[in-house]
Amino acid sequence: MMDPMLRRRLPPRITTPEFWPATFDRFDEILSTSAHCQVEHVGTSAGGRAIHGVTYRGRSDAPTLGLVGGMHGHEPQGPVTYRGRSDAPTLGLVGGMHGHEPQGPATCMNVISVLGYGRDLKGTSWPEIVGDLNYVIVPLLNPDARSRMPNSFVGLARQDILHYDAGMTLQGERYDPAQGDCDPEEMMILGGLFNDAGNHVNREADPDNIRSPEIQATMEFIGDHRPDIVLEFHAHAAPPLLIRPTNLIPPDMQQAQQRLCEEIIDTAKAQGILFDGKIPTTEKCSTALYHHFGGAMPILYESPQGVLDSKAPWSHEQIIDTCMFVVSQLCSHLMG
Ligand SMILES: [Zn+2]
Repeated sequence: MMDPMLRRRLPPRITTPEFWPATFDRFDEILSTSAHCQVEHVGTSAGGRAIHGVTYRGRSDAPTLGLVGGMHGHEPQGPVTYRGRSDAPTLGLVGGMHGHEPQGPATCMNVISVLGYGRDLKGTSWPEIVGDLNYVIVPLLNPDARSRMPNSFVGLARQDILHYDAGMTLQGERYDPAQGDCDPEEMMILGGLFNDAGNHVNREADPDNIRSPEIQATMEFIGDHRPDIVLEFHAHAAPPLLIRPTNLIPPDMQQAQQRLCEEIIDTAKAQGILFDGKIPTTEKCSTALYHHFGGAMPILYESPQGVLDSKAPWSHEQIIDTCMFVVSQLCSHLMG
């Protein structure tokens, strides 16, 4: 018999399409067969789960192994350098900050598929997501939260998300997320915002006070690879929305952020994709720290959750396609 406390931490089983990988066996399957990428274990979550960092090196700077050194057989081999990235721009993607937002990790897996095979997991090609760029991907920042959460909220109701996002106390009430970190022992459902230690990981906005191993590992990885842009995936019960994290971001980068978000929204509207035209800012998210630690321009994308009582009661396919659209727009921008 499973301990009742552990039993209630198992999410309800919701079957999702093949192109919406949301479970650890599927993530492992995809990452272990992605020979075109380098997959590293960059850290371990509070609950003891691996955090993976994935890099893809743009092909514009192919290694010149053996072409120069050793031409006459008696010369020492010339220096062969395997750099972590080519001189091409680098796009960063971070999924799974919040466990109840499974479209982020699913989108990262679809991007990895495009980079290897030219098609996403349902066979769609994305010509803008090119192998000429470098990619730095943390598909699942908060694996503890993913392990506790349903695989999808598509076709459910807004109220269903509210039971999971901030979690439910032992008294059966929704936890107030404004209170920040929570005590896992006090929760009936430990929410998708938190790691297993109860850290509210996306609220660790002070670079000198990072408490969670998830944010620590991700910032070190981003700092090592210094992407030009980092897109962080989130989801909400509303149409697509871009948010500009602005804490510690200099004014010129904020202007560039604004222009890029406007560009994406304009293109979405021209293609008939429902998109919120507002671009709110936030000063309370760890998302902004991609700039502090890695020099990157941070952008936060809120995907629809697909709940029926929202203005975007979208299917899994529409949700992934629009996540992929945002990625493709960032690629176009970087290829400029
Ligand atoms: Zn979120």
